[in-house]
Amino acid sequence: MFSGEEQGKVQIYTGCGKGKSTAAFGLAMRAAGCGGRVFIIQFQKARRCGEHESAERLGINLAQCPQGRGSGPCTSPCPLLTAARDILKEGGADLLILDEIMAAMRHGCLSLTEALSLLETRPAKTELVMTGRGAPQELVERADLVTEMKKIKHYYDEGLPARRGIEF
Ligand SMILES: [Zn+2]
Repeated sequence: MFSGEEQGKVQIYTGCGKGKSTAAFGLAMRAAGCGGRVFIIQFQKARRCGEHESAERLGINLAQCPQGRGSGPCTSPCPLLTAARDILKEGGADLLILDEIMAAMRHGCLSLTEALSLLETRPAKTELVMTGRGAPQELVERADLVTEMKKIKHYYDEGLPARRGIEF
């Protein structure tokens, strides 16, 4: 991947089960360990958690939404959309993660057309990872790998609060 010989792929982690962002951060950790230039753009989350501390220690570039979860459409154009475009245009990323981009589309931060245009802009060597439940069919069709996380059981259903070091 980082030798310039191999092609990057488009990956989607979707579904209602836990583990979508966790899978993406796992890939980021692996790529950074192999000397890759890694960028994580995290829509819909303003809160700084354990994974952000770790990412910065590993030299992973990170941008979060200043407004946070469930916020309506932010300023137009969304600064994170602009950041993603710039990273892809400059071709400086071996791995670009667009975390919670599906939720960002639902909240009007970017349109499906804009998400598709990011795929068009992707340099062949850049691995692009998108996460969030409810991936639109148009994105699924253009991806090379799509995994659906399915909940079998979750302690959230018993009302357990999120735990530091596990959920955040
Ligand atoms: Zn936004």
